[in-house]
Amino acid sequence: MINCEFFTIKEITWSGIVINFLKKVILESTAMAIAVTIFVPFITAIFSSIKTGNWLNYFKQIPDWGYNLFGIIIIAWFVLQVIYKRYKNLNNHFSLPIKTSSTWGDIPIAEFSYYGVIWVVLAPAPHPWLDSLLIKDINPDNVEVDLPPRCPKCKTKLDQKKTFLGFWSWYCVSCDFKTFKKDSFYIAENGATMIAQRQVEKIQEEQRNSLT
Ligand SMILES: [Zn+2]
Repeated sequence: MINCEFFTIKEITWSGIVINFLKKVILESTAMAIAVTIFVPFITAIFSSIKTGNWLNYFKQIPDWGYNLFGIIIIAWFVLQVIYKRYKNLNNHFSLPIKTSSTWGDIPIAEFSYYGVIWVVLAPAPHPWLDSLLIKDINPDNVEVDLPPRCPKCKTKLDQKKTFLGFWSWYCVSCDFKTFKKDSFYIAENGATMIAQRQVEKIQEEQRNSLT
C-alpha cells in the first residue's frame, strides 16, 4: 500500500539559496515589511533634500495613484505574510514527546476506543524476575496511554495536522481513515489517560470486593 522513497536528498543550488532568502524576507519577515514602509518615504525625503534642497519636493511630484499603489502594495504584503504564516503553521507536524519511561519500560495492557480512535493503555512493566503482571500490582497513577492513538480501521499510528479553520485532522497514513476533531492528540490524551486509570482502579476494586 505504501510506495514511497523514504529519502530524497535535495540538491543545493545558488538559485535555491537566493529564492529561499527572498522567500524568508518577503513572506516571513514582518520586520522587513515594517522597515520598507518606513524607509521608502524616509529615503525619498533624503533624496529630495539632496537633489532639490527641500525634502518635500519629491513628494509633491508623486501623483495620487502613486500613493494609492504604495498603500495597496504594503497592505497586500502584510496580508500575504499573515496568510503564509497561517499556512506554514498548518504544515508543522507534531513531534512525539519523549516519555519519562518506567524502570523496565512500559507494556501494553489494554486498548479502548475514545474520540473515535484506539488508545493503547500502558503500564510499567514488572521487574524482569517476575514472569507476569498482575493488575492488582499496578499503581493506577502510573497507567498512561500510548501516543499517538491508532487508526480504528487498521491500527496504524495516526498522524495529525491543524486545518485552516482551526480544527485538527487526525488521519491514517496507511488507509483512508480521516476524522476532524476540535482537539489535538495531546488534549485528548489527558481524557484518555484518566479513563484508562479509572478502568484499572475499577478492576482492582472488583477484585478486592470478590475476595471479601
Ligand atoms: Zn488506517
